[in-house]
Amino acid sequence: MNEKYNCDVIRDLLPGYIDNILSDTGNELVKNHLGECEECLNIYTEMKEGIGKDDLSAYDTIAVDALKKIRKRTNRLKITIGILVGILFLFLLFIALKIYVIGKPLGTGSMSIPDTVYDEETGQLTVSGKMNLHSFHVSKVVWKEDENNPNIVNVIVYYAETLPFAKDRTDFSIVIPNVKGKKVYLACPEYDRMEIYDWRMHHYEKVESLKKEIYGKVPELDEKTDALNCMQGITAVDGIEGISFNVDFIYGKGASYWWFNGMLTTNGELAPADFEIWISLEEPHIILIYDYQKGKYIDDFSIISNRKRTE
Ligand SMILES: [Zn+2]
Repeated sequence: MNEKYNCDVIRDLLPGYIDNILSDTGNELVKNHLGECEECLNIYTEMKEGIGKDDLSAYDTIAVDALKKIRKRTNRLKITIGILVGILFLFLLFIALKIYVIGKPLGTGSMSIPDTVYDEETGQLTVSGKMNLHSFHVSKVVWKEDENNPNIVNVIVYYAETLPFAKDRTDFSIVIPNVKGKKVYLACPEYDRMEIYDWRMHHYEKVESLKKEIYGKVPELDEKTDALNCMQGITAVDGIEGISFNVDFIYGKGASYWWFNGMLTTNGELAPADFEIWISLEEPHIILIYDYQKGKYIDDFSIISNRKRTE
């Protein structure tokens, strides 16, 4: 037999020899050849060591590689399915949360008119009420400053479906930190709202007595010709809280106010003002003018007498 040809045949038989699956004759042939041929013995040693590492034959390695590829592809499919199931689960969870936990804003018609308790010391307003719907519960109550007017606070009540066997909670209560000078509405966004508290209404006497004090202390003002109109909200000057008044003429051609049957009446077309009058809420009452031109508070009241009345 040709030496080279012999080596090729032996090397083809080596995997079978290592796995011990050759016939006795084949086994004997390879064994004898390895005793004589150093090259084939080296290949045999390398092959055996390489395979010995993971106890697999060369054929097994190929099969394992193919299996690994299939497993990889399967894993990728599993991950994709996992992600899709996860998304679906989150979506369903969100819907369930929305229905049973978060809820949606309640229309004011579905509530009884809430009670309001104002705390003079802190300016806090506690609003408590009750929902008239059955098999729903109040899920949360929030207060928000109105987008268009910082002197308006909206209270929004959310309601949600009640889970079977769970108890309906139909009453609610919320504390609004500071409503001094503000109006409070019970609101259902983009649907309706109802006024439930107006600081100026509840402090009408206080506002009237502050007005009287302004008329008494500012000689440039005349109660018969100048109307003081309380503006909404509280303005702090140097950290002192106070309220501001617009001043409008009561008589004359450009007047926006007039006396009618003993009542001060307005057409609502107020003259553009140059200033506001500010008075502190705490005593002793400080009275200042806010000059729109100068953009600051001053204690010079001459701007009042300098106004031009359009006769
Ligand atoms: Zn050989």
